[in-house]
Amino acid sequence: MLDDLQKLIQKHWGFASLRPLQEEAMQAVLDGRDSLLVLPTGGGKSLCFQAPAVLRGGTTVVISPLIALMKDQVDGLQACGIPAVQLDSSLSPEERYSYECDVRDGAIRLLYISPERLMMPEFQTFIKQVGIKTFAIDEAHCISHWGHDFRPEYRMMSRIKDVFPGVSVHGYTATATEQVRKDICKQLALRDPLVLVGNFDRPNLTYRVLRRQDVDRQVRAVLDRHKGEAGIIYCLRRLDVDETAETVKSWGYKALAYHAGMHSDQRRRVQDAFINEECDIIVATIAFGMGIDRSNIRFILHTSMPKSIEHYQQETGRAGRDGLEAECVLLHSGQDFLTWEAILKKSARENDVSPDFLPNAIAHAEDMDAYARGAVCRHKALVNYFGQKYIEPSCMACDLCLGDVEKVGDALIVAQKILSCVARVKERFGVNHVISIVRGEDNERVRQYQHDQLSTFGLLKEHARTVIRDWIFQLIGQGVLVKSEDEYPVLKLNLASWEVMKGKQSVQLVQPVRKERSEKVKQSKADVKSWEGVEKDLFEALRSWRFELAKQIQKPPYVIFSDETLRQLARVRPSDPEKLRAVYGIGDRKLTSYGHLVLAIIKSYCEERGVEMDTA
Ligand code: ADP
Ligand code: ZN
Repeated sequence: MLDDLQKLIQKHWGFASLRPLQEEAMQAVLDGRDSLLVLPTGGGKSLCFQAPAVLRGGTTVVISPLIALMKDQVDGLQACGIPAVQLDSSLSPEERYSYECDVRDGAIRLLYISPERLMMPEFQTFIKQVGIKTFAIDEAHCISHWGHDFRPEYRMMSRIKDVFPGVSVHGYTATATEQVRKDICKQLALRDPLVLVGNFDRPNLTYRVLRRQDVDRQVRAVLDRHKGEAGIIYCLRRLDVDETAETVKSWGYKALAYHAGMHSDQRRRVQDAFINEECDIIVATIAFGMGIDRSNIRFILHTSMPKSIEHYQQETGRAGRDGLEAECVLLHSGQDFLTWEAILKKSARENDVSPDFLPNAIAHAEDMDAYARGAVCRHKALVNYFGQKYIEPSCMACDLCLGDVEKVGDALIVAQKILSCVARVKERFGVNHVISIVRGEDNERVRQYQHDQLSTFGLLKEHARTVIRDWIFQLIGQGVLVKSEDEYPVLKLNLASWEVMKGKQSVQLVQPVRKERSEKVKQSKADVKSWEGVEKDLFEALRSWRFELAKQIQKPPYVIFSDETLRQLARVRPSDPEKLRAVYGIGDRKLTSYGHLVLAIIKSYCEERGVEMDTA
């Protein structure tokens, strides 16, 4: 069976091997066993229901929350020569009838619909008549309250097993929390489901956190590193969105603003321009992203901290879906948490929320703040947050591992100074006051408590407040110092704190390196590798060809070929159809549709420049 699947995937999609968990997930579909597959964005979830649908014949119904997402997958499947259609409200009655006939005739492998349609009685009758056996639920976390984009219409699907007894139901999501996972299985009433949870790390993403100082300069540095590439700049407020978009345009970049205050067709136009690669930079509030399947987003820039690590993971997850390198930069300041706290408190006051909303939401923002101030590898911190282990000694794809920041040489001593100050004030004071003491500041509060008499007074006087604040949060992040959860939080010690003070446990502290050095940004491993041997000009030539063709056929460019395929073409530079067919992402259909065009471009480029062909 596996052999057949692999042959079929090679034939239609042009992929040479399966990714982790794909085999198990596909087997569950073929066996008709309910399942839930949790893989990060770009992990390859769609193939897990698409390939079995083709292999077993008949029709598989796919439920998807957004028309844009369905359209994307349907376009992609058709481009690979697989019969797929979507039934949605935009169809004329004739079109719908014709699609339904095709399904009855067994000519359609994948039928995409919305959850609302699934619950329409006529449609249910239709499904039963046709005898459909398999349902795939994309973005399955939309069924859970606990998820970040709960959709009430998804809740209707809790009846799916009652309405269609005997079918198998398969859920797919990138949402990592255990709570959501359990809720999905419960809501969908899955029977003895096979739950597969993949590795949450995204090795092709480089994470960086910078202290927000001179936003314009910092934003520009990121844009300049990604000239001609696609990216999203996330801002907290609409006002910031408009301002930033104007600034970015004034530098000569093509950028469009996007936020919830815009008219819906205006928003649609912005989305389309981005998807069709007419515009590469979107400046947006978090409202932008769901339903955007553009796979070659090369950077995500947050100009301030998102409200939780889940949101951060979701938003940065949109980068590098094609598996190629991408950069995620977060500009962070101590103010960000306070801003969120104020927003959340206001929202709790003005809305009818459950009593645990506020503490929960604030705790999430605190976790995000701690991440931003953290001193451990970003990949490790993110993966650990989602309950997984990170075994690599260094990711070589984050600011900390790439040496954008400097390790504090005498971290243990610095930590001991801070911790003993917390001990001296009897664990009764907050972050700001402790900073004042170790910096030796002469202020009223210090004098009032006679803390200028303490032995720890002024022990770190040569360091800036912001630096010491970061260190305190880095210690909290490493579990050797505790911030209490009271209304006026104070710093407290735990067993580990005493181990550190006795010198029995080590800690790590970091600080930003001096400006001149940090301007030169190191490339991640993925970045270097993915461009190895690639003729960049040829890549660009192929990209413009793809852009023009996409306009002609009115499909998004990535439906024709992914960036990864274009890079491989520009690396291998195949001279005949057989060698072309061996390139990633070129199946039979695409070879027939575009093969001769691609070969002609490569040939003329190589001849003109005297570049060698067939390097692999
Ligand atoms: P997800 O839905 O998990 O975010 P997708 O299904 O969109 O991910 O897949 C991400 C990308 O990886 C797509 O471009 C897809 O064609 C590609 N892909 C999926 N499976 C494989 C595979 N086995 N080998 C190579 N590429 C794959
Ligand atoms: Zn790292």
